[in-house]
Amino acid sequence: MNVAPDPKSIPQGALLSPEANQAAALATATGVLTVDLDAIVANWRKLEKTAVPAECAGVVKADGYGCGAEQVARALSNAGCKTFFVATLDEARAVRAAVPATAAIYVLGGFFQNTGDAYAKIGCKPVIGDLNELAEWDVFCRRSGWSGGAAIHIDTGMNRLGMTVTEAQGIVPRINAGDHGITLVMSHLASAELLNNPANARQLTAFREIASLFSGVPASLANSSGIFLGAQFQFDIVRPGCALYGINPTPEADNPMQPVVELKARIVQIRNIERGDTVGYGGTWTARRPTRIAIVAAGYADGYFRAASSNDGTRGAEVVVAGKRCPIAGRISMDLTAVDITDLDKNVVRRGHWVTLIGEGITVDELAHHFGTIGYEVMTSLGRRYARVYKGGNATAAPPAPPPAEPAAAST
Ligand SMILES: *Cc1c(COP(=O)(O)O)cnc(C)c1O
Repeated sequence: MNVAPDPKSIPQGALLSPEANQAAALATATGVLTVDLDAIVANWRKLEKTAVPAECAGVVKADGYGCGAEQVARALSNAGCKTFFVATLDEARAVRAAVPATAAIYVLGGFFQNTGDAYAKIGCKPVIGDLNELAEWDVFCRRSGWSGGAAIHIDTGMNRLGMTVTEAQGIVPRINAGDHGITLVMSHLASAELLNNPANARQLTAFREIASLFSGVPASLANSSGIFLGAQFQFDIVRPGCALYGINPTPEADNPMQPVVELKARIVQIRNIERGDTVGYGGTWTARRPTRIAIVAAGYADGYFRAASSNDGTRGAEVVVAGKRCPIAGRISMDLTAVDITDLDKNVVRRGHWVTLIGEGITVDELAHHFGTIGYEVMTSLGRRYARVYKGGNATAAPPAPPPAEPAAAST
């Protein structure tokens, strides 16, 4: 007699290789998000080249803009990135596990009195934007002997984080006294994606003045868009985030970055409906002809925003089915989205086939337009239910450039 094995004795993936685990996840997944780490590295290299001689850091907050902070940080580190920015200590912990001890990790959210030990343990640096915060950090460093360094964040017009320019001037004597523990002075641009916004020049002037007083301390102003405002915005370190992940940092011009994510979801049912039938919650979309509908396994719980729904008055987002763009039909629901596939040949799609929600020409920025938001929110909302697949990421640092040719000896 056959005895069923005790389910507890079956290894739950423990004996499977990462590849086999991934294959198992893929076999049952209803959505697959592919992150192209090589494209992220290529984007980083492009930004680095644009900003040279400034150092190019990598902003990997919010789980690497939804792409996976550890995977992204490891790939960037392999490619030569030496400085990372995150929002929280928990994010810093994840990134630290993925990068060498020599890599600098800055925590944009700054320092609270009880977090000093965590900073020391992880070996990361707070971005300090308030004089009381700085005083507390100094107390921690004096008591613990920790000398890992910190950044000073100066507000130059955004009025979010950072101390005032006047407050920052008060730190200058300390800089001149030496051994100050400040490893970076930074500010953040409020409108960098708008080339001609006068706030950019105002912030640049204010930052240039105050940063020049922090002599010997590296300075940083530019996010992704700031890099494209010109060399004077680049200072010593640039801090790109969105552009690494393929979001257009220059929305007034063509996107210079490569796309990074591709999102596919499975068709769970195909149905034929009559002219006059409605589709989905509220019956807001009416078939104007005999119509074929594919029901796709992704919805607003997966970060496919309900705002991209389609009804009789407005067209919503599109998805690519069998190589062709097809419109959404009706309201996007929590787990499912209906798509009008009437214009496709009847035999090209079947239940179980995959449709493309991002990729094949559908960009994150296009989707953001339909969602009524920006690419950043599309990326950081990408659902937890998707199986995640990583491509590449093994690129190594480019060999150091050969030394410049000896200048011809001056003839004497
Ligand atoms: C998020 C963030 C960045 C990166 O901005 P992007 O627009 O995504 O390039 C840089 N600096 C600070 C302070 C940030 O908060």
